[in-house]
Amino acid sequence: MESKIFSAFPRSDRKQLSALCLALLEAQKKSWPQLASAQQGLADIQSRLIRGAGYETGVQFNPARKVSAGAAVDAESIKNRPCFLCSGNLPPEQKGILYSKDYLILCNPAPVFAKHFTVAHMQHQPQAVAMSMERLLDLTADLSPEFAVIYNGPACGASAPDHLHFQAIPANSLPLLESFPGHFRIINDAAVKIYCGEGINRAAMVFVGGDKDLLLFQFARLLQAAQKVLSLSDEPMINVLCSSDHGQWRIIIFFRSRHRPDSFYAAGEQRIFISPGAIDMAGLIITPLKLDFDRLDGDMIRDIYREVSLPEETLKYIIEEL
Ligand SMILES: [Zn+2]
Repeated sequence: MESKIFSAFPRSDRKQLSALCLALLEAQKKSWPQLASAQQGLADIQSRLIRGAGYETGVQFNPARKVSAGAAVDAESIKNRPCFLCSGNLPPEQKGILYSKDYLILCNPAPVFAKHFTVAHMQHQPQAVAMSMERLLDLTADLSPEFAVIYNGPACGASAPDHLHFQAIPANSLPLLESFPGHFRIINDAAVKIYCGEGINRAAMVFVGGDKDLLLFQFARLLQAAQKVLSLSDEPMINVLCSSDHGQWRIIIFFRSRHRPDSFYAAGEQRIFISPGAIDMAGLIITPLKLDFDRLDGDMIRDIYREVSLPEETLKYIIEEL
């Protein structure tokens, strides 16, 4: 395990976590050829902005994401593959930052952004948000304001649903984060401000506040309300995107009805290779195919968002229950 640790946080010299992550990235680009080539590949990705349906969506053509976007995430396939987030299975060159003794911050070998990290728990245990939310908030505060932190639910975007992990990405990289609160209506102006998304074709809620315990309390209540309305004992299908600035956390929760739209499973040219996780839901749609990059428009994006999101009516029930 020692050989996998580039550095540990917190440190006695009080060096900032974001600076440590950038140092890790620079070191890994020199010592890990696969990462160096993935980073070079980022120079070839194409992006464009689609305006339509009342909001902006970025689209990114990123051929290297084909493996993770197309990954089989059913229980049988997961059981039969070695877990790529367990420290014993990492490539020999890969190292990470040991975060508060229980997570390892790693450079993402299939990046969407030049600064893109995966934060994997040291133990192989399933993706679960209720028990990991406090660490997600701590990590977000420690990486703020440069980075936002993502959680993808085990059935709606996580490519390793069996291994607890987050991702850290640049905080200024997602249209919906940038335009907040433009598309959100405030529904509770208390110590934790609660907002609901409007006109974005996605079932989204936002919690804003500076008191960690209160945020955790409200987040737990939201999960319970969703479980009750959806008659679930498991975690509701959600993506979470958390950022922090000036001591205030902002948690965006996307409620999902399914992982991939029907068009993902269609045959031939009908197939649209989009497998939405938190990044896509927050307004940057990643596709590994040039065909899809060229043909996506506002109507197609609206349909995909609607198809994978919880219906508006159901979100209303959850808000009433909350
Ligand atoms: Zn694992």
